Amino acid sequence: MFNLKGFLQLSKEAKIPELKGWVKEANETILKKGADLKVSKPSKITVAEIKKDRLYLTIEGEYPRPHDALQRFRKFFAEKAGKEHKIGVRGQIAEEYSAVFELEQKALKTVSVPFAEVKIDGKKCSLKFKDLTEDFLQKNYIDRIMNLVKEKIKYQFYEGKDEFSQTTWTGKERPTKYRSDPSEDLENKLWIKRTASKGQWVIGREFTVFLNSLKTLMKENVFKKLGFQEMIFPKFEYWDYPKGSGHANTIYPNAYFVMVPKNSSTEFWEPVSDHYKITKEIDKKGILERVESVGIMSYAQCPPFWALLQQSTVDESSLPLKVFDWSGPTYRNEAGGTHGLDRLEEFRRIEMIWVAKKEDEIKIWKDIVESLKNFYDKVLDLEIRTDRVTPWWMAHAGIRTDKGTDEMGTIDFNAYLPYRGDRKQEWLEIQNASSNGIKYTDGFGVKLPKGELWSGCAGAGLDRIAVALLAQKGVNPKDWPSALTDLVLPDLQNINPLKLL
Ligand code: ATP
Ligand code: ZN
Ligand code: MG
Repeated sequence: MFNLKGFLQLSKEAKIPELKGWVKEANETILKKGADLKVSKPSKITVAEIKKDRLYLTIEGEYPRPHDALQRFRKFFAEKAGKEHKIGVRGQIAEEYSAVFELEQKALKTVSVPFAEVKIDGKKCSLKFKDLTEDFLQKNYIDRIMNLVKEKIKYQFYEGKDEFSQTTWTGKERPTKYRSDPSEDLENKLWIKRTASKGQWVIGREFTVFLNSLKTLMKENVFKKLGFQEMIFPKFEYWDYPKGSGHANTIYPNAYFVMVPKNSSTEFWEPVSDHYKITKEIDKKGILERVESVGIMSYAQCPPFWALLQQSTVDESSLPLKVFDWSGPTYRNEAGGTHGLDRLEEFRRIEMIWVAKKEDEIKIWKDIVESLKNFYDKVLDLEIRTDRVTPWWMAHAGIRTDKGTDEMGTIDFNAYLPYRGDRKQEWLEIQNASSNGIKYTDGFGVKLPKGELWSGCAGAGLDRIAVALLAQKGVNPKDWPSALTDLVLPDLQNINPLKLL
């Protein structure tokens, strides 16, 4: 049940003797339009009185929602009052609004949402709002807030539950020859060096050769065989992209935010400059006052790809579209902390995206999984395992137990890390591959002239592949698979190693 108390702002003080009749007429006609009276209680204007230049109204019912009813009545009233009394309507405000509705489950604890006061009593929930503007009422925030409350209560039942994970394939066990943490060994050799920033490394020449060789092998053995071609995706994501991909729902604790100056004049920034000149400290507070948030640094890598297709209809002759990007790093604020080269805040990732008709998309997904298995197991000779896990969009939404389906879901590739210990536990996710259904095409408004357009994406942490390989085989190039050693050694031999005194 919904209840609205508010007013229409009139263009001038008014006396309208016909008001009672108009309200009766509206209640019986326009407010009932479209309502299924068996399912919901029709909304009705129960009080209408004019005080000076305001028409105060009370509206109660379920359908149309009182804020829609207010909107309908406003139009109806403005036509009549305009014609008969030369009075216009300037605006509308809901001073008080309440929504009382049934929940599917009893909440485990109370929830809070912006804009409303929430009260929960068993399965009954009541929301109270104050002073809602026209914009708020028209954009249907009320229904979104009701859905958000229901969603939050639903998620309470998933909290603390382990994420769904089922092993689908386990590769051959390899003998363990090396038990050190390769990041430490590499740092001692000065192949990499930690920077002052959390989870960031500067990559020296030797390790750059190593990473590039892994990329070459991947290109030869996976991309060329499957017909994937290289693109360059933007690495700054304007807010439109997290909105389209759905990441805008949850990304905040893990994001690297991008801010730009509100104003670029030297005078505007002079106090911040001066502060530094005097104190030799950055005036972070002064900066925050002068910037605005425009988006985030690349987080999931694939969203900005969609700038290429968004709001378009794709000609079937262009499909399947199969691309990859490794043109720049991904940034994440890893709230749980960073470690070595395997949990970084600036990391290199190889992202594949494919867009195709439904049946083709699913087939490509399965082919990719097989091809990647072959690459890690046979070409890189790694001890890996594949798991079916909660699809990323469900995991990000807080539903950790969802299994996905045979057509839509996520497969993780995990590699054993001997330095961490036991084979039962110590596996690191190096790659995943997801069939995303219409999640992205729908989010970015991409269509086919006929039928569903599906897409998928697969991300591999290049640093993580490197860690897995070195953790299993050690840091001596002679102990690596020959295809890799052959690529790395010639370049490595040309490098005069750095020595710091
Ligand atoms: P994890 O559960 O280990 O944090 P994730 O589920 O957050 O990984 P995704 O968001 O699925 O990872 O990203 C795809 C790939 O990116 C992962 O398979 C992994 O190889 C890599 N990756 C993710 N986070 C990091 C990180 N902090 N450092 C290095 N690589 C990472
Ligand atoms: Zn992706
Ligand atoms: Mg993570």
